Amino acid sequence: MTGALGMTRPGPVGLLPPALRTIPAAVAANVAIARTRTRARIMAVVKADGYGHGAVTVARTAVAAGAEWLGTTDPAEAARLRAAGLTVPILTWLNPSGVDAGAAAAGGIDIAVGSPDELAALLEQSPSTAVRIHLHMDTGMAREGCPAAEWDALIALARQGQERGQVRVVGLMGHLPLADQADPEANAPAVSRLRQAARAVAAAGFDPPLTHLAASSGTLTDPATHFGMVRFGAGLVGIDPSGTTELHGASRLTAPVTHSAAVEAGTPVGYGGAYLTPRATNLSVVPLGYADGIPREISPDASVQIHGRRHRVVGRVSMDQIVIDTGAEHIPPGTTATVFGPRDGVTPTIHDWARWAGTIPHTIVTGIGSRVKRTTA
Ligand SMILES: *Cc1c(COP(=O)(O)O)cnc(C)c1O
Repeated sequence: MTGALGMTRPGPVGLLPPALRTIPAAVAANVAIARTRTRARIMAVVKADGYGHGAVTVARTAVAAGAEWLGTTDPAEAARLRAAGLTVPILTWLNPSGVDAGAAAAGGIDIAVGSPDELAALLEQSPSTAVRIHLHMDTGMAREGCPAAEWDALIALARQGQERGQVRVVGLMGHLPLADQADPEANAPAVSRLRQAARAVAAAGFDPPLTHLAASSGTLTDPATHFGMVRFGAGLVGIDPSGTTELHGASRLTAPVTHSAAVEAGTPVGYGGAYLTPRATNLSVVPLGYADGIPREISPDASVQIHGRRHRVVGRVSMDQIVIDTGAEHIPPGTTATVFGPRDGVTPTIHDWARWAGTIPHTIVTGIGSRVKRTTA
């Protein structure tokens, strides 16, 4: 049968679609590594859909492996975790358009407040159930967090709100600006700022709050930053920003080879003919492009693994596909190409892709496009 344009294109029958497979066992192993580095509680940070690995999957796995808290940037993400049946405490710390105090209290979602204005906006809603809040000190980022000059005002307002039963101060937090340095000395100013903040909170008569500062790097490298809890995000999915610890890659990106051909030497490949085959060779097409998160700016070393060997990506990355030079090897269509996966000595890792693209692995995993099917190993 032909369509109006005579273009029935039977898709390759039986091919598995491009898929990002999350590996829960790796997440659990990464939590176990964090556990060996700290006695503090572990918050599993699952913002940006669990760094692209599926927030609910990563959260459930991390909690089963010993994480006692969950962290997200906004209340909507937190609500999805609650809806999925996760019952541990959840903190959110980036609430650009304000927070629905009633919903936060009802959902048992903790809110970080980083300025007197933010807290005032919360109190104006006169919540009938106390909202659990974490006072967020700016420990050197000038991003979220309360500047030191406004700290006393924030505490005074929190005092009032707590006396009226509208909020309860349960936490105190900062964030390390040098999150990718394994250097306790570099963290020291933030540690001392948070200690100072803690003294002011104690002086104002609050019960000692749960105090937290470190993210993955601090967790793995600097016990002085651990306080009562660490916030472990990138590490869950195998990224150690400090570069000191071999963590477990927690995902595998695969796609079937859709087309293969033998070509002559001097064959231009892809848009602009940016690559000319230097010899007679075999090319294979993999249906993943920059719309799926394959970085367009990559070094000539960028490769995928097929049949246990690395083969280079050649020519420009298109929106929907890349071309692989497989040399003497003819790859039958339907063969699985693995773009990245856990380190096995052959398969490229997210760290390899970050290097090839001149970026950090976080952008690789959070950039995988929505049409890539998500599965769990
Ligand atoms: C993202 C984030 C974390 C987790 O950082 P990782 O380096 O990914 O572990 C912790 N705290 C805050 C405030 C964050 O925004």
